[in-house]
This record gives sequence, C-alpha cells and structure tokens, in this order.
Amino acid sequence: MAEAQTEARELTEADAAAELADLRAQIERANEAYHRQDAPEISDAEYDALKARAMALEEAFPALATPESPTRQVGAAPAEGFAKIRHRVRMYSLANAFDDAEVADFVRSVRAFLGLAEEAPLAFTAEPKIDGLSLSLRYEHGRLVQAATRGDGQEGENVTANALTVDDIPKRLEGAPEVLEVRGEVYMTHADFAALNARQEARGDKTFANPRNAAAGSLRQLDASITAARPLRFFAYAWGEVSKPLADTQLASIQRLKALGFQTNPLTARCATVPEMLDHYAAVEQQRATLDYDIDGVVYKVDDLALQGRLGYRSTTPRWAIAHKFPAETAWTRLEAIDIQVGRTGALSPVARLTPVTVGGVVVSNATLHNEDYIAGRDAKGQPIREGHDIRVGDWVQVYRAGDVIPKIAGVDLKNRPQDSEPYQFPTHCPACGSEAIREEGDAVRRCTGGLICPAQAVEKLKHFVSRAAFDIEGLGAKQVEALYADGWIREPADIFDLEANYGSGPRQLKNREGWGDKSAKNLFQAIEDKREIELNRVIFALGIRHIGESAAQLLARHYGTWEAFRAAVHEAEDRESAAWAELIDIDGIGAVMAESLVTAFAQERERASIDRLAERLTITDVAAPSAEGSPVAGKTLVFTGTLERMSRAEAKARAEALGARVSGSVSARTDLVIAGPGAGSKAKKAAELGIETIDEDAWLRLIGQG
Ligand code: AMP
Repeated sequence: MAEAQTEARELTEADAAAELADLRAQIERANEAYHRQDAPEISDAEYDALKARAMALEEAFPALATPESPTRQVGAAPAEGFAKIRHRVRMYSLANAFDDAEVADFVRSVRAFLGLAEEAPLAFTAEPKIDGLSLSLRYEHGRLVQAATRGDGQEGENVTANALTVDDIPKRLEGAPEVLEVRGEVYMTHADFAALNARQEARGDKTFANPRNAAAGSLRQLDASITAARPLRFFAYAWGEVSKPLADTQLASIQRLKALGFQTNPLTARCATVPEMLDHYAAVEQQRATLDYDIDGVVYKVDDLALQGRLGYRSTTPRWAIAHKFPAETAWTRLEAIDIQVGRTGALSPVARLTPVTVGGVVVSNATLHNEDYIAGRDAKGQPIREGHDIRVGDWVQVYRAGDVIPKIAGVDLKNRPQDSEPYQFPTHCPACGSEAIREEGDAVRRCTGGLICPAQAVEKLKHFVSRAAFDIEGLGAKQVEALYADGWIREPADIFDLEANYGSGPRQLKNREGWGDKSAKNLFQAIEDKREIELNRVIFALGIRHIGESAAQLLARHYGTWEAFRAAVHEAEDRESAAWAELIDIDGIGAVMAESLVTAFAQERERASIDRLAERLTITDVAAPSAEGSPVAGKTLVFTGTLERMSRAEAKARAEALGARVSGSVSARTDLVIAGPGAGSKAKKAAELGIETIDEDAWLRLIGQG
C-alpha cells in the first residue's frame, strides 16, 4: 500500500485535504462498525493503514489536522499516563446537607452572608446530583479543543481524545461565546452498564462494581478506542471560563447550554422557598427508582448569578450551592475483627473488618469505628449512643454509606450476639511500635507516644507528604513509599530529595529494584526535581502537623508570605507571652488549637531538625496573593469594625481575602487599614492612636472598585 501512495509532502494542500476527507470517512465508517455495532468490516491491518496514511497527511499539512479527526480519537492517547491540564477556573466540590434542617441552615447562611432580610426574595435551582464523574469541556470558536477531568480541582487529566468519542458531547457549537468551558457529568445508564458487564464477563474481563466506576474506568482509558466502545453519556450543568456570560441566572444558563446542543437534566426546577426546594427533592427522590441512571441527591444553587458572584467560594466548595444527599443505603453483616490503624499523628483508629456485603452496589468489607468510646457505646460527652450498646467482635452490625465517605456502622443486633462474646478491650500500646498509647483529657482519641520512632507514624507522614494536595510527586505513591521506607531508603521527607544522589548510581540503585526500571527510575528522579521548587502553602500542609489542613496552611502561607518569616514566627511563638504568639492566634481562621499544635511540632527537636533538613533541600516560593494582580489591598492587613451597611461582615471579609488581603480581628501596629462602620468603638480608637488609616464602607467599596 505504502509504495502506491504519493509521498504526503509531494501533494498540494488541496489534494491532501481531499484525500484526508476520504480517509476520515472510511475510518469513521470502520469505527462505527467496530465499536458501535461490534461488527468489523475491514481487517485490523487495513484499518491501521488508513490511519497511518491520514496521520502522515496531517503531519505534512498541520493546518488540516483538527482535534476531531479520527486519528486523534483512537489510540492517539499519550504513551504514559495522561497529560495534566491546569483548570483556568477551578473545579469545585459541593458541600453536603443530609436533612431538611441542614438545607434550611444553608439558605439561612446564604441570606446572612448577603445581608438579605427573611422576606427578601431568593430563588434557587434544584436538580439531580448525577452520580458520575465531572468533566470540563473547552470550546474555542465553537470547536471542542480540550476535555479535562476534575482531578484535584486545580489540575485534571487531559482526556480530549476520549471525550471526542462520546456522542452526547458536541464537537462543534453554533453561536457559542468565543471561549466557553462547559462542565457536567459523564455517566452510564443502567441498561448500558448491565450490557457492558455482560460483555466483560463473556470475555473474561473484569466487571465493574457500579455505573459510576464503569463510567470513570471508561473515560480514563489511555487508549481512546476503548472509551469509544463504551456507551458514555454527558449532562451539562455548569461552566468554567466564558468569554461572555451565557445568561444572568443559573436556569437561563442551563437553557442556553441546551440550546447549544448539550443534554441537560429534565428534572431541573426553580424554587422560590425552602418548602419548594424540599418538595422538589421529594419528587426527585420518588422518581429515582425509575430513572435509568444513578443519582445520589439534589443540588440546590442560588439562581441569580450576580449573587453567586458575591457569595464566591470556600477553599473547595462554592458558598452558593449545596448537595442534599439521599439517605444512605444500609446492609447487615458480621463484624469479624477489629484492627487498629496508626495514623500520621499517632491516632489509633479502630477499623471494623466485616464479612463482605453489598451496600448500594458497592462491596464493603471495612468500616470505621471512630474511637474507643464509640465502640463502647458512648459519644464524646459520655452520653449513650445506640442506647448504650457496645460493639463486639462477632456481632451482627448494620453498615451504611453516605456519599463517598468510608462506610460506618449504624447499629448492632443484640439478639444475634454470640453468647460467649466479650466487650472489646482497646489497646493501651501502639500496635506498630509498642510505645504507650495515651488519651489526653478531652481527646476522644488515643495516641501513640512513639513520635518519629513509630514506623507507622513515619510512613503515614511520608504518604501524606507525597499526596496530591501536598508534594504530589508523580510515581511516588503510598505503595512506593511503604516499600522504600521498609528498606530504609526514605525515612523522612528530606530523604526523598536525596534519593537520586544516594540511589541513582552505585551498588544499590533504584532502577534495579523490583518494580522499577531505567525509565521509571529516571522519571521519578525528574518528578522529584520538578517539586524541589514549591509553594509555601504546600510545604506547610505537607508537614502533616495535626490540625493544620489545606486551608489552615493557605492562611498561614498568606499571612507570613515566606518560609523564613513563617519558620521564625513559629519559633518565637513558643513563648506564649510573645507578640509572635499573639499574632499567630490572631490570624483569622487559625485558632488556639491549631497554633498550639503547630508550635508544639516545631518545638520538638527531632521534628524541627527533620523539617529544617527538608527546607534546606527546597526552594520554597513565596505566596502570591490570589487574584491580587492590580488589587489595591493585596498583602495588606485589614480590620473591619462597626456595622457594615452594604454587605454582611462575612461577605466583606470574603471579598477582601479574594483580593489578596488578610483580615484580622484586632488592630495592632501591623494593621494597614481599618474599615469602620457606624458604631465602631475601641478598635477605631486604637487605630487613631496608632495612626492607622481608617475609612468608611463607601470609601472601601470605591477602593476595591465596587463603589
Ligand atoms: P462531591 O464530589 O461529592 O463533593 O460532589 C461534587 C460533584 O458533584 C461535582 O464535582 C460534580 O461532579 C457532581 N455533580 C453531579 N451532578 C451535579 C449537578 N447537578 N450540579 C453540580 N455538581 C454535580
């Protein structure tokens, strides 16, 4: 075949275009026959030849290459893993409500944030929460140019080739804004799921636990031809970057997406009151059993997009939406054993090992038992739970799953309790290192006192260190960390950055280890190098200090700006009388408990030395204030006092922070600006004494361009 063909480069572009059109049609016909009808019409070799020719033409005439070309749809995925895509507008998760009262609380909090009176109108949309996986589709000039999974919300996987094979996803749009990112859910219907599993079984391939897993497994295929063979669907319900707003309201935007050719969910309604929202929830719940796809709740969103804009986001969820989950599904099974796991902060967590049972379509064999009081039948305040009945090995227990969370135990069946069963004795020593495990007053958790000598804590700390929100080192996951720790190659985070120096050459080399090779070792060293320069907030979070989660790390990083300033401040704060301590606990969102935990961690000599060894090996980048470009208050410390009239205090604070300012609760020499409303008292006075600039609310709004 190849000889008979004219060299691609020798053709004119017009001839190449004509030939390419013909080839694409043939390939598409072959795809259709193969993937959709399971009835191939041409041999694999012929198919490959068609594709090779089309690719050669596209290479010779790049202008003719389009993302929707069949050469990109099948088998065109990157060789190793997916490329990453940074979302231009972050993809968020949703806060949850589990009952009517929580929905009412949500509406109340929205009103409070916006400073809206109870009678003021406030409409919400209500729509099913589709149980699939979210996908962001980017269209430029009406053409689908990119598709990315949510990933960690900031960075997802490039699954463009795969998305191109999904029928519900339009490849071209008419009349869309120049840039339009459409977001929604990829899912699989029950009928398609059953048929897929039957096919998998017939071929001896693994079957999927539920439609969501099947959808995720199908979309995230390196070989897009597999995706093409899987019946995926897509509902659009949101958007990311847009060059021109779709509409003024949530509902009208969805209608616009529908008009553009997307599938949108028909069970979407606009509700003016909480009872209307709950009615819609009940109606959707009733229809749930008859729908051909899985849903796990109803999502309420503030309808007015201007209000959505004012409400903004928390660290991972919008303030303007909430998912009202359906009640969890339950099942009974036997508790076979109670194991104790030791976490990175030394917490001993009891885990129930269960006889495997299916709960809501997923096989469950473990459940959390929280802590020793919970097992004994008491809550944190010593009040009885489960009517004071304890949980024992051998018991029949009722298991439930709520959303994605780890399965839990809802109750015990005392009638079926074995006669010889005994109350569970919670260990008083760490099962990993044998150190004493103690429970401090007021703490529900028993903790291992072994600190760094406890291998379980060390490994968990390392796993946390390499996790997604921390250093996110590609190729270094929990499994690798465990193995490298066990052999002593990595004992603490700093060792990761010496891995290449120690094990890149010489007698003991990473590439010679089982499961590693030349390429994977090189890739890992490179992935580690790539993370040597890293943002301050990630480093703080990665340290795995108790109570210091992602958002606390953000707050600290933004407050101190540089590693040196942070490190020095935490050290000085060891003296609880110091200004550094006062400043630390004054950071809005950092309470005394967090501050205590942070300072204590740095006060321990071994821990501190280990952290310093790490820092020496890194280039820690200062934290740029978010969206602070051109912001007049970026990096400034503000204090609001008195009554604000145009917005609530919460909203004012959120807006200031979104502009890169820090908001503090009290006035000190470090305060840059005080915004004082009517009724301002001692804080305004103190500001005057210290000579700190003080402005009123109108001036503040003008300053940030919203006056
Ligand atoms: P979660 O990951 O459980 O916090 O829930 C957030 C996810 O719900 C989003 O990332 C979406 O993938 C998914 N979702 C499903 N249906 C909807 C919907 N109608 N509106 C918003 N998100 C939805």
